[in-house]
Amino acid sequence: MNVLVINAGSSSLKFQLLDVDTREVYAKGNCERIGIDGSFVGYESIAVEGKQKIEAPLPDHKTAMQYVIDIINATGKDFIGIGHRVVQGGWYFPESKVVTDESLGWVREVAPLAPLHNYAEADAIEVCRELFPDKGNVVVADTSFHYAIPERAHRYALPRDVVDKLHIRKYGAHGTSHRYIWRATKEFLGDDCHKLVSCHLGSGASLCAITDGRNMDTTMGLTPLDGLIMGTRCGTIDPATVCYLQRVGGYSVDEVDTMMNKQSGLLAVSGISSDSRDIELAADDGDNNARMAIEMFAYRTAQLVCEMAQANEGIDTIAFSAGIGENSSTMRAEIAKKLAWLGVKIDDEKNRVRSDKVREISAADSKIRVLVVPTNEEYMIALDVAELLG
Ligand code: AMP
Repeated sequence: MNVLVINAGSSSLKFQLLDVDTREVYAKGNCERIGIDGSFVGYESIAVEGKQKIEAPLPDHKTAMQYVIDIINATGKDFIGIGHRVVQGGWYFPESKVVTDESLGWVREVAPLAPLHNYAEADAIEVCRELFPDKGNVVVADTSFHYAIPERAHRYALPRDVVDKLHIRKYGAHGTSHRYIWRATKEFLGDDCHKLVSCHLGSGASLCAITDGRNMDTTMGLTPLDGLIMGTRCGTIDPATVCYLQRVGGYSVDEVDTMMNKQSGLLAVSGISSDSRDIELAADDGDNNARMAIEMFAYRTAQLVCEMAQANEGIDTIAFSAGIGENSSTMRAEIAKKLAWLGVKIDDEKNRVRSDKVREISAADSKIRVLVVPTNEEYMIALDVAELLG
């Protein structure tokens, strides 16, 4: 059963055509710089050898989708429907839903919570409905998996009338990834896994506490700014810092927003880069700010692992995923070192192995199993489409 998965951003549109039964990917790519000079479509497909690049003006998502259609058609594969990654599902998507006029309206209604993403995603859904009138579309929101978090963890201790009026709560992010990580971990460990702390550590990073498939808590909040230090995001800071920056620092609301989202995190601490590869290289050369960036990232991750373990009231497994979690043996080792008091012990040799498969890196005498789980959000989205439309 084949599914087309679309992940639209404000200036990009990623796509993947895959078979949910065999997990085979027939075509995948990204339309980049939509609406900006220098736009192009980069892709791979079973219909052509090697990586392809089409340089062409992409004034809007509709034009980009036309290229996607040509690429999909060239594979000779049909598909049952289209799954759309939506960053913010708000209070309307506790689970994935088939697109109707009403549910498309909901994607736009909750867009003020994620304006950079939801409007573009709603536009992409509209384009797909127009270009593929005989195909069903499904919204798979990144927030859905977190909607079941217990109230004690998702409620903000602000006045009830304000919270209710503005729909303020912990929505979290990376929910589709955490859901996949749970599934893959369970497949790998079977009955040995009940209380998982899932660590999605990429340029955006969040942790999730999962007990027997139920989401107990996550580290991101109303928006993806909360929780861990990230590539360019500051993560959790004293909320009064925001007022202080404005009142005393003289920064405007937008300047503070930009500072916290784009100029902070690993980039700010290292003063070098938001990319942990550059930071690791600089740290190896003795750069103290780079070393502090790694130290802070590992410290905060270890601290949040404990916070998530409390949400689970226990922990038997830690899973590392996404760009840093899957690739950086240095960061995994640093985090594990900080959790040694809890009985976490990784096997250095296993930790150094590079693979795109789920693998265990904990030592035989570790009290907590530690896995590396390459995430696969597209597959999770495709599974939802297969379930709703198949
Ligand atoms: P993601 O957002 O999941 O694509 O992750 C992107 C981040 O993963 C990059 O910014 C890098 O910091 C990190 N990353 C990717 N590959 C490596 C690697 N081999 N070693 C260390 N960090 C990596």
